[in-house]
Amino acid sequence: MYDVCILGKGPAGLSAGIYAVRAGAQTLIIGGADGALAKAKRIDNYFGIATISGQDLLDAGQAQYTALGGETLEAEVTAVEMGPGGFVLHTADRQIEAKAIVLAMGKGRKGASLPGETEFLGRGVSHCAVCDGFFFKKKRVGVLGSGAYAASEARQMLAFTPDVTIFTDGKEPAVEMPCTVETAKLSALTGEARLSAVQTADGRSFPLDGFFIARGSAGASELALKLGVPTENGNIRVDRDGMTALPGVFAAGDCLGGLCQVSVSVGTGALAGQRAAEFVRQR
Ligand SMILES: Cc1cc2nc3c(=O)[nH]c(=O)nc-3n(C[C@H](O)[C@H](O)[C@H](O)COP(=O)(O)OP(=O)(O)OC[C@H]3O[C@@H](n4cnc5c(N)ncnc54)[C@H](O)[C@@H]3O)c2cc1C
Repeated sequence: MYDVCILGKGPAGLSAGIYAVRAGAQTLIIGGADGALAKAKRIDNYFGIATISGQDLLDAGQAQYTALGGETLEAEVTAVEMGPGGFVLHTADRQIEAKAIVLAMGKGRKGASLPGETEFLGRGVSHCAVCDGFFFKKKRVGVLGSGAYAASEARQMLAFTPDVTIFTDGKEPAVEMPCTVETAKLSALTGEARLSAVQTADGRSFPLDGFFIARGSAGASELALKLGVPTENGNIRVDRDGMTALPGVFAAGDCLGGLCQVSVSVGTGALAGQRAAEFVRQR
């Protein structure tokens, strides 16, 4: 079991890692190479560095963290749950335990919204199988997505109903899916008081009672929701120590909202990493 596990290896996650390791915590960072900083060609406003590419800054932070003895796993976290000693993180092929976690997964990726998605939110459309799956016992359910996160949400739903279809919206599935897959491009979610069907661009209609959005990776706010951590307009709420309302769950970086900049991510990451290590020591 790790002392501190950090979700995300952007500037917030790496900064949290540097502080957690230096505070004596056995630390693992899990993340991918697709964060916001990796996309920034030039950073001209970071303290002490006139100009640097986002990728070079990330590489320097990663090298600094690794040299201190921190571990890194290139993977996507698809689910987090409470465990006997703290938290259990799920990736496509592993379960990892940690005494404290830091959510540092940047701003959630926003795919193109389907007509009807907002209208039927809470009336058939959901972003959380763990939270709402129970309401769709033995019902017809769709899951939107093509990656490991969609597969994980579909697996959650299969515990409630055998009638689960994954809609990839024109993409090829990136992982093995646990149920029927429909790859047609989608055009709209339709219904009256509640969602009743999803329409495809080729003119077909699939009757549904529930539709779970699981595009791309699980974002910080989706995982927070599953843990029961409060969010506000999709941003995670933390106290002055960077801890959420759930003891042992910290958060940092763009997922907090506000000024989404590297310097702020590095600062909130430092706070969350330091306090997460202290939290574990005090326990
Ligand atoms: C084009 C562009 C230009 C920019 N220019 C500037 C600039 O000039 N100056 C400036 O200060 N800021 C700039 N920014 C903003 C800056 O990049 C962000 O504020 C900063 O990168 C946020 O850091 P973060 O660590 O919170 O998130 P990110 O850098 O987005 O990192 C998120 C990490 O979380 C991981 N992740 C996501 N989901 C999961 C999951 N389910 N499981 C595991 N890991 C996951 C990702 O793989 C990634 O490693 C720019 C951003 C962009 C896109």
